Amino acid sequence: MKEIYLDNAATTRVSDAAAAAMQEMLTGCYGNPSSLHAKGYEAEKRLKEARQSLADMLRVDKSTVLFTSCATESTNTALRYAARSMRHQGRKILCSKGEHSATLETLAYLANEGFEIETIDNDSTGRILLESLAEKLDSNTILVTCLMVNNETGCIQPIAEMAKLIKEKKPDCLFHVDAVQAFGKLPIYPSEWGVDFLSVSAHKINGPKGTGLLYVRKGLALKPLMFGGGQESGLRSGTENTAGIVGFATAASELYAMRGELLPKLAAYKKKLVDGIVEALPDVFVNGPSVEDGAPYIVNLRFDNVRSEVLLHSLEDYGIYISSGSACSSNKPQEKSPTLASLGLNAKQIDQSVRFSFGRYTTEEDIDETVRALKQIVPMLRKFSAR
Ligand code: PLP
Repeated sequence: MKEIYLDNAATTRVSDAAAAAMQEMLTGCYGNPSSLHAKGYEAEKRLKEARQSLADMLRVDKSTVLFTSCATESTNTALRYAARSMRHQGRKILCSKGEHSATLETLAYLANEGFEIETIDNDSTGRILLESLAEKLDSNTILVTCLMVNNETGCIQPIAEMAKLIKEKKPDCLFHVDAVQAFGKLPIYPSEWGVDFLSVSAHKINGPKGTGLLYVRKGLALKPLMFGGGQESGLRSGTENTAGIVGFATAASELYAMRGELLPKLAAYKKKLVDGIVEALPDVFVNGPSVEDGAPYIVNLRFDNVRSEVLLHSLEDYGIYISSGSACSSNKPQEKSPTLASLGLNAKQIDQSVRFSFGRYTTEEDIDETVRALKQIVPMLRKFSAR
């Protein structure tokens, strides 16, 4: 049976070029970048090239790119540092209503330490309202955090406008952006926009799991996360994951080079999928932004009277992989998606919602097959649920 992988927002297949670059680092260029001999020098050179290449994509100085083990680590680091360093200036932290658990759980931890967490209002598509941000941003606000592309609905947040507003109204307030679902696909210029921290992950862009980066604006004196050999400018000691980092930079360069062609193609696939489903089946609704307004590679659909988990497993029987909610939230099934709740969906509707997400290996045939499978599965599941 052919495998149809439509869960690229959860993770992606490592590209052949990234896997080959990693293989080379693991078995050929395996030196420790801190070693003084030629093998160490060669590994250090590759590490520097990877950092420079990722910095160029973000149009930032290479000294502002810190390699981490994942975006969760990047976000934890940024938020905990920002809150602690600003605690004498105020206590309020603002976030959108649809943050990823990496942010939500860190904020819950900070709330226990006495910080006040408030959410910014959004419209019916999930897009934050700049007037709500302006209203809630007061002299007590020390930090704003927001994801750039929502991992469940593909809603794109107005990050550049948010940064401008924050820097105009409260210049010392720090701004962290979770760009995990945006990096490699949408333009992101943290330094030019006035973003202080930006979290990115390699495994969402056909790079390896276990590698991420944190952009830290120049001039912010981040405290070390781990003490030891002084790697990553003393901020994150421990021998660098050279294979992961080189795989990350390789995958990112590939995606940057192809995104001009890839994104319109994925937008057309997304439209084809939604049109095909809506034409064939009654009572199917798009959650979040319209097909045209959201990120071209994520769409969230509600199938009335079909439980998402049942649909997910039924599609799996056809070799089709999708997601109900975000992959991380499946570890906490009792917690219903805050993103979908912020759109006004009740618990039952959330339980009937699934996510399709596309990537560079998605084909038009995958879309046609998925529509065909849904046409067979959904009426059958509805018949059983009606009993
Ligand atoms: N933020 C968003 C929006 C995500 O989708 C994810 C991954 O699911 C993360 C953060 C966490 O990334 P990582 O798996 O690299 O920790």
